[in-house]
Amino acid sequence: MEFTVTNTSKEMSSFSDYPPSPDFPTYLPHKMMLKYLTDYAEHFGVTERIRFNHAVHKIEKLPNARWKVVVKDLDRSAGSFREEEFDAIMVCIGHHSIPKMPEFRDRNLFKGRIIHAKHYKNSDGYRGKAVLVVGFGNSAADVACSLVGLADQVHASIRRGTWMLPSHISGIPVDFCFFRRFAQALPKRIGDFLFHKQLQDAFNHDLVGFTPEHSPASQQGTVNDLLPRALLAKQILLQPPINRFTENGVIFQGSEYEVNIDEVVVATGYRPDIPFIESRIYGKQNEAGDVERLLLYKGMYSLTEDTIAFLGMVEAAGNLGQMFEMQARHAMAVFNKEIDLVSSKVIRRRAVMQDIESIKSKFISDSDRHSAMVNKMEYMDMLAEDIKAKPDWCTMMWTDPYLFYRCIFGPLLPYQYRLVGPYSWPGARNAILSAPENQFKGLRPIRPLPKTIASPSLSPQTILLIIFLLGLTILVRIF
Ligand SMILES: Cc1cc2nc3c(=O)[nH]c(=O)nc-3n(C[C@H](O)[C@H](O)[C@H](O)COP(=O)(O)OP(=O)(O)OC[C@H]3O[C@@H](n4cnc5c(N)ncnc54)[C@H](O)[C@@H]3O)c2cc1C
Repeated sequence: MEFTVTNTSKEMSSFSDYPPSPDFPTYLPHKMMLKYLTDYAEHFGVTERIRFNHAVHKIEKLPNARWKVVVKDLDRSAGSFREEEFDAIMVCIGHHSIPKMPEFRDRNLFKGRIIHAKHYKNSDGYRGKAVLVVGFGNSAADVACSLVGLADQVHASIRRGTWMLPSHISGIPVDFCFFRRFAQALPKRIGDFLFHKQLQDAFNHDLVGFTPEHSPASQQGTVNDLLPRALLAKQILLQPPINRFTENGVIFQGSEYEVNIDEVVVATGYRPDIPFIESRIYGKQNEAGDVERLLLYKGMYSLTEDTIAFLGMVEAAGNLGQMFEMQARHAMAVFNKEIDLVSSKVIRRRAVMQDIESIKSKFISDSDRHSAMVNKMEYMDMLAEDIKAKPDWCTMMWTDPYLFYRCIFGPLLPYQYRLVGPYSWPGARNAILSAPENQFKGLRPIRPLPKTIASPSLSPQTILLIIFLLGLTILVRIF
């Protein structure tokens, strides 16, 4: 979308060996994110290895244990196909490839336009219209907010309450604030209580009848600063799920009345699938009453093959790039035979089934968006341990107590996984220590602005006077 700004902060969204420029703002508009990615590719010599404008059409396992890849050259008008062979494959088509379009009753009657959020680029053509956004994840919230003040009315059809997160808490980006090792180690009840309180303090979800029944940790929250005010101003009207379409609108569940709607944007996420490989290789579970799932060992490997990996198919709260980078490092270690995967298909399948049970018990179970959820820190630690990139915290506590303190009590920065092991990076320590400053450096004005009135501060005498008066009040109450 033309207005997309990352909802994860730049220091948390970076590659583990390439901190973002201190001149960048804390949250990156999409053009800056693209610049960061292209700079990275240039820096590490990746660009010249990419074949742009080629689409993978088919991947097949050959009898000689290699892989045949059929690619289509999109630059040629007639479209030419070419075959090549590879020893190993990483499939990285992303989890936002195949839009999920729910079935709606009487959809064919509706005279307006229905599109998926994947195809929504900007608000052109929506001025003065009644627009319904279906869903309430990050994309839905972004689309709805982009229409506020321009559309005649924005409606949002939601299945359940969603936790809304502000971009920052007490001036700290929300991911920088919450993703910390010590916070993850808190007993679940205490962690849930504190998280719940922070989010309710930031926006009282009860006011709009929107308070979820599930804990904030069991869902990917929706990060959006514009949303609370739009809800309080009723510029976005929350509606129940759609019962059916009519010619000119929608009848929502629990109601008999038609609500006039001109345009619909469906933001119900994406389907996990890989269109160009036989599904037995990545394992697909599509049981009645359950959401669609891929059966991937360690969230990325086939149950039967060792030379193919599926990256980017797991989900988590916060930044995802950190996890996908770790997956790429893990896959390289497997392909280079530096580490072995358990070879038994039965054991791999059992592990996957345990993962599914764990997902069902920890996260909302009837949501596609949460079908492949992992706890990011636990998942990355597990992969890092395999490739020997996880620091030994006990040793670090004695050898580098300050770094230990910053790793355990500070944010879970990607650079933590470059401190030790193969492909460790000498700049990782400094990147961890300087991240809090770099996070905000780019926000300062280029030229100093004129000073405004100094913020009020309390002198020591005033503090003593307040303590004295408080003490006096307590004494008066007691006696
Ligand atoms: C609106 C929006 C906002 C987001 N904001 C954030 C955020 O703030 N922070 C965050 O961490 N994440 C965010 N995400 C998620 C993030 O974009 C993804 O997690 C990330 O891009 C995944 O990286 P990837 O390389 O796995 O896949 P992608 O970035 O999706 O890349 C997949 C690539 O594969 C290509 N491809 C697909 N099929 C084929 C084929 N057959 N042949 C050849 N190439 C193919 C695609 O063209 C694409 O270039 C956001 C996503 C969206 C949609």
